[in-house]
Amino acid sequence: MQVLKLGGSVITIKDEPMTADHESIRRLSEEIKAAWPTPLVLVHGGGSFGHPVAEKYGLMEGYKSERQVPGFARTHQAMVVLNSIIVDALLETGVPALAVSPSSFIMTSDGRVQSLDLEVIGRLVVRGILPVLYGDAVLDQSRGFTILSGDQIAVKIAIEMGATRLIFGADVDGVYTSNPKTVPDARLIERLSLENLDGYIKIGSALTTDVTGGMLGKVSEAREAVEAGIEVLIANATERDVILKALRGEPVRGTILTR
Ligand code: ADP
Repeated sequence: MQVLKLGGSVITIKDEPMTADHESIRRLSEEIKAAWPTPLVLVHGGGSFGHPVAEKYGLMEGYKSERQVPGFARTHQAMVVLNSIIVDALLETGVPALAVSPSSFIMTSDGRVQSLDLEVIGRLVVRGILPVLYGDAVLDQSRGFTILSGDQIAVKIAIEMGATRLIFGADVDGVYTSNPKTVPDARLIERLSLENLDGYIKIGSALTTDVTGGMLGKVSEAREAVEAGIEVLIANATERDVILKALRGEPVRGTILTR
């Protein structure tokens, strides 16, 4: 089984509120269809849907005032809208995709996943259905609520379900020596060990609004999957056929995280 996380920066136009990148979503749906049938769980990020709303209401820091409560519900709903665009596109290409709402079965404690019952997702995969999850506003046992990133969900699911490979589709080729969007001579790191990750590499934060942490957040989450022996690949989902090849296990340009 594989887990594919598609970044919010890939499937939405990040600087235009509530705007999906329909072209990119359609192309990626076709790539998934070309690899189909395959045991897979898809998780996507929030991009211009979830993040601006979550930030407006300060949801990451948890419950502070009643004023945030509608923001919690609105953040979830923004994600439902984006999720529905993606599920529709997959259904149209012929992939039996099914929306699964993280806030209804995952709770966190201090921002980390606590309870997670994967029986339904496991059975969906066995049935030949593609569960489609997303970063979501969830209840948190210590903070009241929080934002749970698609990255953390993807890692947890990959570990708990014993996935062989976890693929992060980003809007850059992988992890660079510095942010490739601001540092022109940044170099792609093709193999990144956990040791090096802790050491010399300085990973900046994403340029655009992302309450859950850019490339640094992604790689820090992915560490746990690498430790569990899962092959973790970060590759560019904005380039045609990269995700298709990655799903087929063919070599692609990107960063492989190793122990
Ligand atoms: P996604 O939306 O795909 O989950 P993010 O936008 O949160 O991903 O994070 C990816 C972004 O992180 C890239 O677009 C890039 O601008 C930024 N970034 C910062 N530092 C680095 C780095 N060292 N290597 C790669 N990307 C980096």
